[in-house]
Amino acid sequence: MKEKEKCQFCGGILDHKKTNVDLRVNNEFIIFEDVPAKVCGQCGEKYFSAEVYTIIEERVKKKEDVKKVINVPVMCFPVSV
Ligand SMILES: [Zn+2]
Repeated sequence: MKEKEKCQFCGGILDHKKTNVDLRVNNEFIIFEDVPAKVCGQCGEKYFSAEVYTIIEERVKKKEDVKKVINVPVMCFPVSV
């Protein structure tokens, strides 16, 4: 059996999961759903393969298969902290 892959940051075990990815492209906020990734069970760090990155890049460029458009709240951190 192959040894479990470990997180580069905390050494936690990586799980194969589908996850959401938030992207910001030219002031536009894009959420990708169901992206295959390896997710650290300890710190939640997500790792994606080069192939996944390429697919995301291509789709973002072409704006392919946009499922829906949602409003995203933008908040400002208070100055007085
Ligand atoms: Zn981790």
